[in-house]
Amino acid sequence: MPIATVNPADGETLKTFDALTSEETEERLVTAEAAFRTYRVSDFDERARLLTRAADLLDDDTDDIARVMTTEMGKTVVAARAEAAKCAKAMRWYATHARGLLADEFPDEEDVRDSGASKGRVVYRPLGAVLAVMPWNFPLWQVVRFAAPALMAGNVALLKHASNVPQTALYLEDLFRRAGFPEGCFQTLLVPSSAIEGILRDRRVAAATLTGSEPAGRSVASIAGDEIKKTVLELGGSDPYVVMPSADVESAARTAVTARVQNNGQSCIAAKRFIVHTDVYDTFAEHFVAGMRALKVGDPLDESTDVGPVSSEQGRADLEELVNDAVDRGANVLCGGRRPKGFDRGWFYEPTVVAGITPEMRIHQEETFGPVATLYRVADLDEAVAVANDTPFGLSSNVWTRDDSDVERFVRDLEAGGVYVNGMTASHPAFPFGGVKRSGYGRELAGHGIKEFCNATTVWHA
Ligand code: NAP
Repeated sequence: MPIATVNPADGETLKTFDALTSEETEERLVTAEAAFRTYRVSDFDERARLLTRAADLLDDDTDDIARVMTTEMGKTVVAARAEAAKCAKAMRWYATHARGLLADEFPDEEDVRDSGASKGRVVYRPLGAVLAVMPWNFPLWQVVRFAAPALMAGNVALLKHASNVPQTALYLEDLFRRAGFPEGCFQTLLVPSSAIEGILRDRRVAAATLTGSEPAGRSVASIAGDEIKKTVLELGGSDPYVVMPSADVESAARTAVTARVQNNGQSCIAAKRFIVHTDVYDTFAEHFVAGMRALKVGDPLDESTDVGPVSSEQGRADLEELVNDAVDRGANVLCGGRRPKGFDRGWFYEPTVVAGITPEMRIHQEETFGPVATLYRVADLDEAVAVANDTPFGLSSNVWTRDDSDVERFVRDLEAGGVYVNGMTASHPAFPFGGVKRSGYGRELAGHGIKEFCNATTVWHA
């Protein structure tokens, strides 16, 4: 893939970039190693001051960087501004909480004595340079979600961003530099994915985190495994959105629209499979389809647009293939299912609802990364759980019910890293984020996230 900004709204290539040479990559690795040597012993107050400054700068830059994101990957400019604000919030959250999250831990005195120690504790120390391989869909947020805790823990970061968001990638390096982080604490490597193996095998890289597709995750995790280096993987999702008879069905349908089409349908935690109890199926379907039909598809820079283009021509072709395969095997398209009229250029696709899904359809097992929802009718709670879990993924889940016993059953049985009750999945710095099954492993955010790239060190005194 060329490293370039190609506007998904019209297909124009706006800017291309040369990849780093191997000498330039080597220089950055040297710089990262040197930076870690001093930065690892900086104190929390200093790191917090720098991260808070980065948040303030980001707030000031919001309008400009939002336009860059929209131009690079097609999200609406309204959503891009919200993403920038979310990043600033997460930076401030970690600036405030990192010291407490990484405070020394003291086991029970009785256990300490039982170990033969006079005293003992656990301290959290940083690991070193962490390679972050990141996707284009939330081009600021995915990076900040990793970088804010990593930097607060005393690690340094090497970003290999997706090749279609180079300007956002360079902006991030510039942001941390302007905030005052010492040289080398956060560096962007403009390299193709073929360069990742060499970087990851380098002794100066301690660990890696990857957010992206399953093949990319498998590749990075295999190399890291071979090198015995820690990884966190945040991969795809096909989250269920279950609606039970006791739910507020109209509210569930309204939220379902947002949950599906947020970020032009390209969110790992977007609800993708809508699993509805037969007693409320018709009402839900009517409101949901009406909501999807009412969305305004158009120029993502227009403030009134609800849904912009998907990020690439290939992305739209993948969606079309999944929908066509389902239709060929007997599914019904309740709305959308085609390119919108009047758009000669750009990679637009109409908000789409497909019903009558059967297990042999590809759309049943694969992730739809765009504004396409699948709708299932189920007879009872058991079937709802079974359909929800009948996927290779396990990122998050959404359940709509006013019955506490339903909730407990979903919390017990859904194979996912989150259960969101009467709402849609949205990440927040205070809650861990991540998945099971093919959605990956490890957690980001909260205390779980900051500890992923720390060396939990036992200190034992005779
Ligand atoms: P992608 O193609 O896997 O790209 C993600 C990153 O991996 C990019 O930097 C890409 O670089 C790199 N990459 C691609 N192939 C690679 C390989 N074989 N080895 C090493 N690195 C490789 O994914 P995407 O299309 O950008 O993003 C969409 C996917 O990400 C979806 O499946 C979505 O669900 C998932 N996602 C997950 C989360 C989560 O938190 N769980 C969040 C957002 C997105 P190049 O661009 O240079 O190819």
